[in-house]
This record gives sequence, C-alpha cells and structure tokens, in this order.
Amino acid sequence: MTMQKTPPPLDPKAPLVADARTMSRAPGTTKEWSADVPLTENLGLDMIAIPAGEVLSLRLRLTSVSEGILVTGTVSAPVRGECGRCLTAIEDTLEVDVTELYAFEGSTTAETTDEDEVMRLRDDLIDLEPLVRDALVFAMPNTPLCRPDCPGLCPDCGTPWDELPDDHGHEIVDPRWAQLKKLL
Ligand SMILES: [Zn+2]
Ligand SMILES: [Zn+2]
Repeated sequence: MTMQKTPPPLDPKAPLVADARTMSRAPGTTKEWSADVPLTENLGLDMIAIPAGEVLSLRLRLTSVSEGILVTGTVSAPVRGECGRCLTAIEDTLEVDVTELYAFEGSTTAETTDEDEVMRLRDDLIDLEPLVRDALVFAMPNTPLCRPDCPGLCPDCGTPWDELPDDHGHEIVDPRWAQLKKLL
C-alpha cells in the first residue's frame, strides 16, 4: 500500500478559495467570482514585487465543463520595484489573464493526469492561490525597467544619464598634469 500525501482540507471561507459546491455541473453553467484580497506578505522577486498590504483584485468566471470547472478572468495588483538600470522607483499595475481547468475529483481527467498537470477541485472547492501566485510572479519582469530605453547610470559618477547633459563625461586627468596646469 502506498501512502498518499493528502493536502489539508480547504477552508471555504478562505479569501482565495472559490466555492463551487452549489454550482450546477451542467456544462455551460457560469458563475461570476470576484474578490479583493489584501496580501499578507510580499509577493514577487528581488527587484519587483507586490508589497504586503496591497490588494489583489480577482475578476473571475467559473464555467462548468464536462470534466471540471474552468476558471477564466483577470487578476491585477499594484507592483513596486526598482529600475534594473537606473534604480529609479517603479510603480505599476500588473494585470494578468488567467485560464485554468480544475478537474472534478473522480473525473476521467483527474484519473488520467497528474495533479501538477491539471489542478483539482477539492471537496468542490477551488484553491485559487497557486494560480494567482504563479500568474502574477510569472508576469513580473526579471529585469524591471522604468522605460524600455532607459539609458541607465554613468559608470563613473553613478548619476542617471537622464539627469546629465549630452556632453557629460569624465576627463581622467593625470595628477602631474593637474599640477602643471595650476602653474600655468
Ligand atoms: Zn531606468
Ligand atoms: Zn558621470
């Protein structure tokens, strides 16, 4: 007998759990599902993240299909970060379209796929957290930029090129010449 790891039961009242218990399984039945969920901890990468306390907006639709429930819609949230070239603060909004099938327990799909290929309903509840988390983090750029053609910083003085005149440069003056200049 193999021991199967059973995840703890979902809480139908949890903010990122959609309740499909009362939803008809007749294919084509839809249910709008919206939520505004404050984040309890930062979600993201080093250079860019959704800070704790910001609100994730979920505007989703659940649709009964023959093998499960299809979740479609958009997830959006404010992101804060730093430009990877000039270190200017970035404030933006991420908006991501999501589409994910949650297979009914005992359906052919559930029996012929692995759980990491197709998500599952659990007790007719849908755990939206992995979907929302992955969609948002995947949409974040590895190197965020304040704008696509950001010129970055002057390598010698570290000032953003945007704040410098076009002819900005650093003359490397030999100290001996500097002395000579003074004398002249
Ligand atoms: Zn920049
Ligand atoms: Zn410089």
